[in-house]
Amino acid sequence: MLPVDERTIRASFLNASRKEAASLTLPAGFDDLDVDALDFLGWSDPKMPRRAYVVAQDEAGDTVAVLLQQAEQRTLARAQCSWCDDVTLRNDVQFFAARKAGAAGRRGDVLGTLICTNFACSANVRRLPPLAYEGYDRGAARDLRILRLQEHVQGFLRELRG
Ligand SMILES: [Zn+2]
Repeated sequence: MLPVDERTIRASFLNASRKEAASLTLPAGFDDLDVDALDFLGWSDPKMPRRAYVVAQDEAGDTVAVLLQQAEQRTLARAQCSWCDDVTLRNDVQFFAARKAGAAGRRGDVLGTLICTNFACSANVRRLPPLAYEGYDRGAARDLRILRLQEHVQGFLRELRG
């Protein structure tokens, strides 16, 4: 992803009120982020643990931020993340709900999705997959997974906008 600064994040929410955007707390280590290793930035609010955020660039290249609410239920072990989308990974995932953008959101429409705990999707897809067979191109497989993660995040943003 492209670098983002605090002001841009606060001004880029698709589904948060001004008050909500103003009250967010940035993740630890925000100033030293390696954005090249991220397809999106996701974190739980250090001061409001049920609140989480995702920041990414949309298809047009614009930075957008999304406010998420973590569901009551605890971490689901070994479920499939909707963004990594790989059954072999067996990550711990969590259910998040995002209010839809605009009028739909004001009517109460939400979009639910399962995302890796700690939003570790970018790191997960960058791990070399196991050798599936002799001559299997693990690097190409990894590149494809990175691309698919980006597509899933963009699909999520598209759906959120309705
Ligand atoms: Zn994931």
